[in-house]
Amino acid sequence: ADSDIADEAVRATCDDASICKRFATSKGYWTDLYVQYFVRQVGERKAPEINRGYYGRVKGMNLLIDAFLKKTQCDCQVVNLGAGLDTTFWRLKDENIMPKKFFEVDFPMIVARKIHNIKTKPPLSKPLIETHSTDALLLDGHSLDSDRYCIIGADLRDLPTLEEKLKKFQINPELPTLFLSECVLVYMTPEQSSKLVHWVADAFPTAMFINYEQKERFLSAGWESANALDMMTVYNMLPQEDVARIECLEFLDEKELLQQLLQHYCICWAVKDKLNLGEASILP
Ligand code: SAM
Repeated sequence: ADSDIADEAVRATCDDASICKRFATSKGYWTDLYVQYFVRQVGERKAPEINRGYYGRVKGMNLLIDAFLKKTQCDCQVVNLGAGLDTTFWRLKDENIMPKKFFEVDFPMIVARKIHNIKTKPPLSKPLIETHSTDALLLDGHSLDSDRYCIIGADLRDLPTLEEKLKKFQINPELPTLFLSECVLVYMTPEQSSKLVHWVADAFPTAMFINYEQKERFLSAGWESANALDMMTVYNMLPQEDVARIECLEFLDEKELLQQLLQHYCICWAVKDKLNLGEASILP
């Protein structure tokens, strides 16, 4: 049906994101030791403004993620909604800032592919096994569960099923929880994404939601406070010696192109802080 074709197009965006990240990291924009296991080939060249855009996106998300982990001293959970082939869990493991448990959710078809990669690539599976207390990892085609990492196949538009599956894998609503959606809500109708965001606000009393998206739409309903920064501002907030370094990697003829691109996107984050962790002032 039409909706299947539409969903298939949405699923394909997970490859686009990872292919761009693979290319930018191959150029040295940032380090990702794990994206190579999800996207084998470096693939064709991407324009410098695209690479810089991804640099800002990844570094900006990481800045907020790391700030939340620091604020909660890793006594928290992370739920990556529409995670695609994202490698954040493996970075956090290497940097020794793992949350109590890291959950990923995506369509069952994407999850099946990701599980296949994890199963067949030791650099991906080793960290899961190392952080797991018993011998057997719970594994079926559409989900994988270990002590610290869990991946669930579910449709984010079907909230009762999403909630049931997260419960099945021992999510703890009382623990401070960081929700991530990096270029995901934009693929749903405003009603669907707003229901999802509301559900998180209702079910998790101490939580932060980080959303990377186009500037026109962002959230506040049900949350105590919300902030948004356009990516031009985020880019200018990143450590400037690193920005200077990546700006030397490739020549960019039209600076305006990058500006337009960055101004078109934003990172927004919303917090609910029942435990009074001071999440609202997460940035220095
Ligand atoms: N967050 C990853 C990143 O930034 O690298 C992937 C981004 S990709 C553009 C969007 C992802 O959201 C895809 O993996 C897609 O399958 C997932 N997605 C979109 N709508 C979804 C839905 N209704 N249920 C589950 N996953 C969904």
